[in-house]
Amino acid sequence: MPLAVPLDYPVFVQHHARQHIGAIVESVAPAHRYAVISDERVAAHHAAALLAQLPEGRASLLTIPPGEHEKTRERWAALTDALLEWGAGRDTTIIALGGGVVGDLAGFVAATFMRGLPIVQVPTTLLAMVDASVGGKTAVDTAFGKNLVGAFHNPSAVIMDPAFLATLPAPDLRSGLAEMIKHGVIADASYFDEILRALPDIAERGAAADALASLIAGSVRIKAAVVADDVREDGLRQTLNFGHTVAHAIERVLAYRILHGEAVAIGMVVESRLAERLGVAPAGLAAAVTDALVRAGLPVAIPTGVAPHALLAASRGDKKNRGGHVRYALPRTVGEMEPASGRWSVPVADDDLLAVIA
Ligand code: NAD
Repeated sequence: MPLAVPLDYPVFVQHHARQHIGAIVESVAPAHRYAVISDERVAAHHAAALLAQLPEGRASLLTIPPGEHEKTRERWAALTDALLEWGAGRDTTIIALGGGVVGDLAGFVAATFMRGLPIVQVPTTLLAMVDASVGGKTAVDTAFGKNLVGAFHNPSAVIMDPAFLATLPAPDLRSGLAEMIKHGVIADASYFDEILRALPDIAERGAAADALASLIAGSVRIKAAVVADDVREDGLRQTLNFGHTVAHAIERVLAYRILHGEAVAIGMVVESRLAERLGVAPAGLAAAVTDALVRAGLPVAIPTGVAPHALLAASRGDKKNRGGHVRYALPRTVGEMEPASGRWSVPVADDDLLAVIA
């Protein structure tokens, strides 16, 4: 049974769902050919079991090397060339098997190949489950910044099975926790508390932790509600950017040598301090957010090697920079964001950012 979420496509969050991917794909996006796009690391663990569920002779596996630096226009070109060489046409369904890098890149391939193919997202990282696979955003990175070339392209279905996470390295699992904590901060204080209660079990048992499936579903519900309200990111969807303006700047300065969720964790601390400094939030918010992130084993301090002025300059290059001001989505308290008269983001002066990162 898919989750009850206000989206145009079904989202399955279930133990054993990975054994039914072929059947689900066949029902939501039946096609003559099926192209599974994955990265080499994920494919080594999980591609064979998926390919065995697809019709023999009509399915192909295309892989890229793992890592953010592969989310490029060059990889997009290589994948679309490989599809053309294979003879793929409009009667092809793409299946993205992997983390957010594969999901975004395969999504952009699906959005653009022959003006659009159906795609089924099968996220295999916690971050991709709770964030990247839901919402229909696809993109590649450029030298000017992350995700600057892309398209909105909804999947035909999203299939999540916590069992995929058993092979995920611990830092990547923690990286996903950062986005889940973000969901609590932006929308739901009781969900935030639920995560706090589950953190010791997650730290001990990782992907086998009891609460993980229901927490994933909770995050998907929050993200889906926001996305459904604001498909094109003009309003409420801004709230999902909490922590991300600073995170993207850190990632750029470090040339992406940091996990996305780790950068988001640090970004949430900085932006919570901004909220306090600007009087959007009362004192104590940053401490509460920091405490949750520390308990999740996430970094909370700006890494050495990220100079304040470099971070400031990189934050100005973000695509949320409109009309010369960098706007930040800021929390009022845990569970509630600053509406800012429906814009859901607040202009921040350079000096204020410098003051909180000093
Ligand atoms: P990732 O896709 O690079 O995966 C992290 C690492 O884990 C990779 O090395 C991968 O090979 C490995 N891996 C994945 N699943 C595995 C598994 N089950 N077992 C073993 N290894 C596994 O990174 P990510 O954190 O999933 O995603 C980050 C990306 O997501 C960024 O590019 C970010 O921009 C994007 N993103 C997109 C959206 C969106 O709305 N489209 C939202 C958030 C993030």
